[in-house]
Amino acid sequence: MTTVVPKVAVIGSGISGAVCASTLARNGMAVTIFDFGRGPGGRMSQRRETTKEGMDLFFDHGAPYFTVSKSVVLDVVLEWESRGLVAEWKETFGSFDCISKRFTDSGEESLGKKYIGIPGMNSICRALCNEPGIESKFGIGVAKIEWLMNQKLWSLTSVDGMFLGHFGGLVATDKLLASSGFSNLTGHPPPLDMNLAPQIASKMEQIPFRSYFVLMLAFSEPLPTICVKGFSFKNSEVLSSAFCDSSKPGRSSASECWVLHSTEEYAKKVIADTGLQKASAATFARVAEELLQEFQRTGLCTSQPYFMKAHRWGSAFPAASVAREEKCLWDTNKPLVVCGDFCISPNVEGAIESGLAAASKFMTMHSCI
Ligand SMILES: Cc1cc2nc3c(=O)[nH]c(=O)nc-3n(C[C@H](O)[C@H](O)[C@H](O)COP(=O)(O)OP(=O)(O)OC[C@H]3O[C@@H](n4cnc5c(N)ncnc54)[C@H](O)[C@@H]3O)c2cc1C
Repeated sequence: MTTVVPKVAVIGSGISGAVCASTLARNGMAVTIFDFGRGPGGRMSQRRETTKEGMDLFFDHGAPYFTVSKSVVLDVVLEWESRGLVAEWKETFGSFDCISKRFTDSGEESLGKKYIGIPGMNSICRALCNEPGIESKFGIGVAKIEWLMNQKLWSLTSVDGMFLGHFGGLVATDKLLASSGFSNLTGHPPPLDMNLAPQIASKMEQIPFRSYFVLMLAFSEPLPTICVKGFSFKNSEVLSSAFCDSSKPGRSSASECWVLHSTEEYAKKVIADTGLQKASAATFARVAEELLQEFQRTGLCTSQPYFMKAHRWGSAFPAASVAREEKCLWDTNKPLVVCGDFCISPNVEGAIESGLAAASKFMTMHSCI
């Protein structure tokens, strides 16, 4: 007798989807991951930029690092650390007051160890997406999700109308799948709608998100007046924090690379002018110039960067959590589970915990079918 390996589709290769896929695959399921992005990571991506001179620069332009407070997540992170996927970023952090022009202790140290992916923040997702039992398909957005009642199978179709396959189970990891933002991005209606999964769609469609801009900068020499490698800005309406990527373990130190994060208020003002559709090159150039000027006004940016580029995170942080104690959402009639940071807390730890919970829920549902 042959056993049928359950086939599961995971939409999204961010950390929640990657953790969920890895857990399912380790429990004998055949998993296919689909992601819009060119590579894995979602908001834990690493951006590769090539300068005019042909030099490659790498920036962790999403989450710069993460912390862990729960033992269930720490167990997973320690396993990644033993595989060399994660390391502690041991540099000192601080806070810079733009009025007094002084650094102060930020209190960040009380948050515990700061973890980073090695050699980039996306390394964890990349490794998980390559584990045995997982097939990963990038550059593919899922635009249509149908439940074939008689066959008890999911049928998925891509944004450009390509049939993606039939699956016995489905894990969705982005609130975009149920929100009007999906239509702005793709021109298609959101695939997880009220007809398909009313309880889930009603919770997901209205999740508010906070937007931010980031500015990636490369300098040929270290900035000598900055005594810490990560800091928050006090009394700036434009900048909220800055992180020196080239000081992280496993990164090249050939150039000094910084990622500056805007304030939420600054991003709101720009988006009020430009809308949430894809921003133009002129908008990104203006944002890059404004963030750099604010950095220069602090007196900390003592030389001219030889590379700079702005990026917008339209949905950087969810401003609500929709699952809390249950840690993921699921459909009571069909094998559909939803996970992501928006289920628990707006950070990497919340996304990992939600991914673990989704896998566990899915396996319980599957054993009952
Ligand atoms: C600028 C910034 C700074 C941050 N700082 C920190 C920090 O200091 N510490 C911390 O812990 N966290 C931080 N975070 C938050 C952290 O990055 C997120 O909480 C976490 O990465 C979320 O993971 P996720 O899997 O839930 O979602 P995501 O990473 O967003 O993954 C969802 C994935 O689904 C894909 N997708 C969506 N729809 C479709 C579709 N229809 N078809 C195919 N693919 C689809 C997307 O492309 C995406 O890759 C930061 C985030 C940003 C942006």
